[in-house]
Amino acid sequence: MTGLCRAESTLPPILAALALTFGPSTPEDLNPELVCVLGEHPDEPDHWGFACEIDGDHTGEVWTRWTDELPPYVVLVKPNCPSKGPEDFAFCGMFAEHPGPCTWEIELPTPDKLRALERDFDDALTLLRALGQLDPPP
Ligand SMILES: [Zn+2]
Ligand SMILES: [Zn+2]
Repeated sequence: MTGLCRAESTLPPILAALALTFGPSTPEDLNPELVCVLGEHPDEPDHWGFACEIDGDHTGEVWTRWTDELPPYVVLVKPNCPSKGPEDFAFCGMFAEHPGPCTWEIELPTPDKLRALERDFDDALTLLRALGQLDPPP
């Protein structure tokens, strides 16, 4: 199992304007704060980030790529990755023919980590009740 790359960048205004020419509904649909969606890719220089969706079904999405040296330098439409995971809920959030493993093959928070988050939430509720900020459970 590999982890996510998660390199960050920002879509330059000129590319944002170009991305909008592919036909998303509004500029608010644009995602200028980019995070690389690939699994860790030490041998691949290009990071890939989601820029915006395109209206309609099965139209693909607008993506951009950048490197550690270069800011985002292109916007392009890619169809969605057709891979399906071993379980029904497992789908790939990347584009067709992306480098590296699919989303569902990348290591996500383990059940232990999820349980820890749940416990934190319960603790917060208990604390709020103790402080009288929340009604006690019926
Ligand atoms: Zn990356
Ligand atoms: Zn995939």
